[in-house]
Amino acid sequence: MKIALIAHDGKKADMVHFLSGFKDELLKEDIHLVATGTTGSHIARAGFEVQKLLSGPLGGDAQIAAMAAEKELDLVIFFRDPLDKHPHEPDVQMLMRICDVHNIPLATNPAAADMFFKYLTLLRKK
Ligand code: PGA
Repeated sequence: MKIALIAHDGKKADMVHFLSGFKDELLKEDIHLVATGTTGSHIARAGFEVQKLLSGPLGGDAQIAAMAAEKELDLVIFFRDPLDKHPHEPDVQMLMRICDVHNIPLATNPAAADMFFKYLTLLRKK
């Protein structure tokens, strides 16, 4: 299972906090985490193994969109900051569109991500 993780700057602490709540599950061998550059650094510092791509504004969101288009991703968690401006907003929109085109689950806030992860954990226990 491959999970992509992205958090805007104002949401990076939330992302680390959120992932920490599912650490046991996420450290399992068959879970592969991939993240945009700076988000990935934060996640790695929290003790997760994660494949780091380019930073979002430098093309990281586009790289994740490409993975989604190639159907390499099972889930995308993207904690967006709706109260801030982002120079790469077109890439953000493109990523969300590609997820919809390919029917890839996309959570854009911790409440939705929490439901996804709880459901996943449940499924994997069966
Ligand atoms: P970052 O990119 O993880 O490199 O900060 C995230 C984003 O803003 O898209």
